[in-house]
Amino acid sequence: MRGIVFDIKRFAIHDGPGIRTTIFLKGCPLKCWWCHNPESQDIKTFTDVKTIVLDGAPFEKQEEIGKLMSVEELLEIIEKESVFYDESGGGVTFSGGEPLLQHEFLLEILKALKQKNIHTTVDTCGFAKWEIFEQIIDYTDLFLYDLKHIDQKKHKLFTGADNKQMIQARK
Ligand code: SF4
Repeated sequence: MRGIVFDIKRFAIHDGPGIRTTIFLKGCPLKCWWCHNPESQDIKTFTDVKTIVLDGAPFEKQEEIGKLMSVEELLEIIEKESVFYDESGGGVTFSGGEPLLQHEFLLEILKALKQKNIHTTVDTCGFAKWEIFEQIIDYTDLFLYDLKHIDQKKHKLFTGADNKQMIQARK
């Protein structure tokens, strides 16, 4: 199975316990005002053209946003860092975008990591049906549950979506 990966950050120290590899899966149902990775919101890959000015001369640089990757490809990258997980009590964090948007792919990689005894964290905004949480819960060691705002109107204003589902999923 393959999923669309937005980015991979090695040696992450703010995404859960210890030293971690953070896998950013592409696609997000929200449109937060403060989003610092708006290119991650669209689940599809695309080519971005940036204008860079060097010595006063502008030139265009093409960049592929998102990459289709298999579970095996991700595992190969993750396992190279295992000494850091072992020494620090770290592991792997799935972030986004919203990682639960690609829940089938997420479930496969979580299962594979559980088999290898690697600690897993899922960083989610909570915008997913409870059944999806139920599928992954046995393979997830830690959830970072990022409810954007407790006030319904403000949540809608700042993210474009209602927060009912996020609050219900926590019950
Ligand atoms: S949940 Fe995260 S990735 Fe999605 S729009 Fe908000 S800040 Fe951006």
